[in-house]
Amino acid sequence: MRTAKALRRLCEKEVRSLDLDLPFDAVQLCEKYGARRGRDILVISQPLPVGMPNGLWLVGDDADYFFYQANTSRLHREQIIIHEFGHLIAGHQHVAAENPVEVPPEEAAAALHRTCYDDEHEWEAEMIASIILGWAAKAGAVAGRTAKHDSLRGIQRALGGHSRWL
Ligand SMILES: [Zn+2]
Repeated sequence: MRTAKALRRLCEKEVRSLDLDLPFDAVQLCEKYGARRGRDILVISQPLPVGMPNGLWLVGDDADYFFYQANTSRLHREQIIIHEFGHLIAGHQHVAAENPVEVPPEEAAAALHRTCYDDEHEWEAEMIASIILGWAAKAGAVAGRTAKHDSLRGIQRALGGHSRWL
């Protein structure tokens, strides 16, 4: 199992220089990360059955798909998405699907069961999620909201208020 320190280094390596906005938006993280590596991450809202996990990562031919529980709060949504992102950057096992967008939720949930993430992987994904959300909260407290204007963003970057984000 990787240590918390190793996971922190992994997060630094993966999310550095993504030019993310504050307040933090997990969907934007996925979009920018996908664009940089040249393989999209599509984040899709889906009513998932009660008693099933709230998030699901499926691997398509050309993109990764994160499904998240539609019937939940925005905060919970962010946590679900960033947790799946954690599995992805940690290189955990995933479910391959031919046409993931067409997978009905029951099958998607069954597929998730088949992946059988062990506790170690769950712990790592949760750690990654809390590291990134922790940075986002800290940067948000210091820098507030990211300026819309490019030159203001440059000033924010220069002042260091967006460290780890810009
Ligand atoms: Zn998980």
